[in-house]
Formats: sequence, C-alpha cells, structure tokens
Amino acid sequence: MPPEKAIATLRRAGIRHAVVSSANDGGTLMLLREAPELVVPALSPYRKLGEMKSWLTGDSVPAHVEARLKKARCVALGEFHAYGAEAELPVFKRVVEIAREHRLYLNADSDRGAVERIFEQDPDARVIWAHAGLEPLDRVLAMLRKHTNLWIDLAVRRQIASNGEVHPDWRAAFEEFPDRFIVGTDSFSVARWHEVEGMQIRCASGCRICRRRSPSASLARTPQHCSSSKR
Ligand SMILES: [Zn+2]
Repeated sequence: MPPEKAIATLRRAGIRHAVVSSANDGGTLMLLREAPELVVPALSPYRKLGEMKSWLTGDSVPAHVEARLKKARCVALGEFHAYGAEAELPVFKRVVEIAREHRLYLNADSDRGAVERIFEQDPDARVIWAHAGLEPLDRVLAMLRKHTNLWIDLAVRRQIASNGEVHPDWRAAFEEFPDRFIVGTDSFSVARWHEVEGMQIRCASGCRICRRRSPSASLARTPQHCSSSKR
C-alpha cells in the first residue's frame, strides 16, 4: 500500500496518533515523512521480515538497535516476539536495558511469563502488551492491576465486540482503565488495512475506545508494527 494511501486510511478512521514500526524501518520512515504530525515512530529490532524467532539468537540485534537509535527518533521498541524463558536470553535482556537507557516503551508480543520477566529486569519498564497476550480478560485485568506501567494493545482481539456492541465485560475493563488500552491494527498484513476504517476510535484524553456503538468494531490492533501499525 502506498504511504499516502495508508495515511489517508488512518485519517479516515479518526486516528490522530499512530505508533508505527516496520522491519528495517523503511515503512516507518515513509509514513513519518508523509505525516509527521500523525506518525509516532517505534523501532523494530527486526532487520527484515521473518526474524520473529532468530532475533533472539546471535548478538547482532542490540548493536543494530543502538545504531538506529543514534539516527532515529522513536518512542518504543517493538513489536518483538518472545515467550517465557526466552526473556532471559542475553539479547532480550540487553534490549530491555537499551529501552531503559533511552526511556522507550517495549512493545511485546509475549506471554505473561515474558512480561513478568521484563518487569523483574526493569521494574520501571513501560510495556505495551501486544494482543493482550492473547490472554482471557480476567488475567489481563490482573496484570493491569499488578503493573501500573503496562498498557494493552487490542490488535486481533476480535471477541471484544460483536454485532456493533462492545462486550459488557470488556466495556467495564475500558472504564476501569480508560488510559491503558491501545487500539491496534496488526497491519503487517496489507489485508488488515482494509479493516482500519471499521474502527471507531476517539482520542479525547489519551486514547479511549469509543463508547458508542461501533460498526463491527474492529477493536483489533495497532502499534508496531506500531499504531501499532506493525511490522
Ligand atoms: Zn503480534
């Protein structure tokens, strides 16, 4: 999708700020050039597509991230993928350290075990939990109550709404934590871009999910891939 078309899509969806990342940064920079007032850049640790597993092996990713950070303005690292004890690998720990040094959010496509390990490594870390970890809502709420520096990305969580209505339990969660949820697009797949306009998003004070009826509320995903317009 051409960058001008992607930006037009985000604007038609009412998105005022989109955290965006992409493997090797190319897509992020194109969107940033097109709409610097809208795009909030994040840095992917991936140098190309297909590094979801391999980024944790070897030792080249931290150097790549640090080199990019010298040149690029960004607010987050991610989206990256790591689960359970993978969060104890040296590359992962170093990336958490780099995020702390640069005060960056970590956009983690991770299970609870990996998220907990991030907070053990850096109690002040700020984590955007991609897809809410694909965890059931009660566990998501427990994590939100436990960790004040945890935000929830809703990408691909399609069960949040049906027939234009947000599920009452999720509505209650949004009302309990009105500033802790982020709408995500998971837009590494071009097909996802066709769902973005189905989102009804209101960014009144921070990012709040519209409380009105929303046609087929694709409360699916964002950042990072960061508007997570990710990857
Ligand atoms: Zn993901």
